[in-house]
Amino acid sequence: MSELVGKSISELRKLLAEKSVSAKEILTAHLTHVGRLDGDIKAFTCLTEERAQKQAARIDEKIARGEELPPLAGIPVAVKDNICVADYPTTCSSKILENFVAPYEATVAEKLDAAGALFIGKTNMDEFAMGSSTENSAFKKTANPWDLTRVPGGSSGGSTAAVASGMAVLALGSDTGGSIRQPAAFCGVSGMKPTYGMVSRFGLVAFASSLDQIGPLARSVEDTAIALSVIAGYDKKDSTSIPEPFKNGGPNFEKALAESPDKLMKGLRVGVISELVGDGIEPEIVSSIRAAASVFQSLGAEVIDVSLPNSKFALPVYYLIATAEASANLARYDGVKYGLRVKEGAAQDSLLQMYTSTRAAGFGPEVKRRIMLGTYALSSGYYDAYYKKAQQVRRLIKNDFDGVFEKVDVLISPTSPTVAFKIGEKTDDPLSMYLSDIATIPANLAGLPGISIPAGLGKDKLPIGLQILGNALSDQIVLRVAQAFQQSTDFHNRQCPGLAAVG
Ligand code: GLN
Repeated sequence: MSELVGKSISELRKLLAEKSVSAKEILTAHLTHVGRLDGDIKAFTCLTEERAQKQAARIDEKIARGEELPPLAGIPVAVKDNICVADYPTTCSSKILENFVAPYEATVAEKLDAAGALFIGKTNMDEFAMGSSTENSAFKKTANPWDLTRVPGGSSGGSTAAVASGMAVLALGSDTGGSIRQPAAFCGVSGMKPTYGMVSRFGLVAFASSLDQIGPLARSVEDTAIALSVIAGYDKKDSTSIPEPFKNGGPNFEKALAESPDKLMKGLRVGVISELVGDGIEPEIVSSIRAAASVFQSLGAEVIDVSLPNSKFALPVYYLIATAEASANLARYDGVKYGLRVKEGAAQDSLLQMYTSTRAAGFGPEVKRRIMLGTYALSSGYYDAYYKKAQQVRRLIKNDFDGVFEKVDVLISPTSPTVAFKIGEKTDDPLSMYLSDIATIPANLAGLPGISIPAGLGKDKLPIGLQILGNALSDQIVLRVAQAFQQSTDFHNRQCPGLAAVG
């Protein structure tokens, strides 16, 4: 049954519709694949097999009754462990939530469930989504399926590795500063951060609320679009959810992809972000992005270089705003309301002592570093100099985007300045880890949609990611441009060793 692994949503849909396989068989094939690979890759924090089995049985009954199938019927999906799936652990890969079981379901999980998806497991991540390599997990380090000695990127490293290796067809990640797009680049898959507010954050554990956004990871643009159509839409439970035009759910993104590449690109203008194709980016990555620009040109698009002069401040601005918001959001983990409580020794038996020992034992070093940085940036003596200034520069960065989107429809750049680095290579140097997100962070600060898709193999045959950014609410255009690229190239068909061995 291993031939069921590595297939696209539309291939699996077809097999189900013609009754040549059952949802149960699809599930079994993927769980067997997980059993074979996950000992090495370590993508999952827990499996949600029981729930998947029940859903598969429901789908198979529908098929037997000849009912129409919902869009993700029988599709195995992995969910990042900061998104609540009812009655299963939601740990955020943190000791402080190690024993927390979600009492309710995130809106995105509800939507996937209603679309017939099979939840196969929750996935490993950097603790509270803080990191770029998944090494900040309190539990284990996930490996990159292309080379097990390297990181999968982060913070959605578990979800991304699961998709790249074929253990899941789709996965959900969250992207605060690049955590969907950067691992997608490192693992050679598609990963999309939608426009801020397009996908409900209800049931996503908050890191930096003005930046966080849930999005899909998949092996093709088409599958990414199918998943986004399911999870997008207004949600009254999320006060930052965009009411219009999504009151009645998201648009049908995949429908808009069914055209030839030159039609998809017709009349579109592509801007190459000049700050991101120069110093500090590996030369072979720059060459791949330039080659991608030529592909768009050959499809009839106008391609020009554009500048985002304030984007050079994006990293410091992000690390002030994200840490400030994190310090407020993580105040709720105090040993009283959620998860871990450390209460030891009569001498220490005060409430304050309980708070501090719980937080000291429950949070890892990177989370503590962020809470301290954020608390400092918000403190009364420094608020104006740091937090307020950062908010002002955030506006300048957004203004730069507004300016260039008068001249072009989409922007392209590398997703990451390097290919996947070695496990342990950057763990002692947080600043060099932070640099990993230099290309992805500006879109979060401005609330814009972006996707990373495979655009070549670089050093040591590791995947290179092409980032495509669009203006707010132009997610459809971003997907169309990405689809035009995939129809004209075959980078997305290259498979990592674990998956290629099955095929
Ligand atoms: N790597 C960035 C950080 O550490 C982004 C994380 C994210 O997008 N969740 O904050």
